[in-house]
Amino acid sequence: MSILDIRVLGDPILREETTPVVQVTEELRTLVADMFETMYVAKGIGLAAPQVGRKERLAVIDVDEDPFVIINPEILHAEGKSKAEEGCLSIPDIYGDVERPAVVRIRAMNLDGDLFEVDADDLLARCLQHEMDHLDGKLFVDYLSVLKRRAALSKWAKNKDKYPGLIRKLSRDPTRTHEHPDEEL
Ligand SMILES: [Zn+2]
Repeated sequence: MSILDIRVLGDPILREETTPVVQVTEELRTLVADMFETMYVAKGIGLAAPQVGRKERLAVIDVDEDPFVIINPEILHAEGKSKAEEGCLSIPDIYGDVERPAVVRIRAMNLDGDLFEVDADDLLARCLQHEMDHLDGKLFVDYLSVLKRRAALSKWAKNKDKYPGLIRKLSRDPTRTHEHPDEEL
């Protein structure tokens, strides 16, 4: 398995639509395995294909030690409202409160090509929606109020120089300390 580079805010691929997967190939399985590896090294709980520079409509998720991949996911049902702080592996060190439906049911394909459904609430519901947004070129900062978004983006403008070429390089033993209590998606 390989650790992939993570694209950070400013890379146009994070704003592009993804393409539905038509067939699960060996290459796709390798991509998914590499994405899991990358997500774990980055200490994230979700990672979508555009974050590693890919156009496939898929994401990997692991909330509460229950890893799974969602391929061509769709939301079947959403209800309630919940507000909580989010971060993103593609926008390091920036956090903001995002309101989303509290409960969702999604349908997606797994690596066997079979459809499955997930009923989720709490952090898993938030994570699924955050990752599915990535597949449509949407980022959590888009949900912030004008003032909070402006503050987040100006903080990001100062951080950005740490990521030459808008690429976040990871190593297996990250020196970056994870002092923030919330997990990144
Ligand atoms: Zn994200």
